Amino acid sequence: MKTICVCGGLARLQYKNEQGRIKDKVVTIYNVPAYYCADCQEAFTTGSDSLRFAQRVRKAVESGAEELEF
Ligand SMILES: [Zn+2]
Repeated sequence: MKTICVCGGLARLQYKNEQGRIKDKVVTIYNVPAYYCADCQEAFTTGSDSLRFAQRVRKAVESGAEELEF
């Protein structure tokens, strides 16, 4: 999947591990979908995915897990 970056470049979908934080708890979420633009080297997630990322971070913190799949 591809999308257009704000710079006008072509951004490709990649899956990467992202760290999220709530207060002093840091958790790692695996395989977070993010678009990466080779032109400006910007990585970004779409609205629904960043919402889900925040939910996964909260779930991990609430369950005491240090890592979770997306
Ligand atoms: Zn770009």
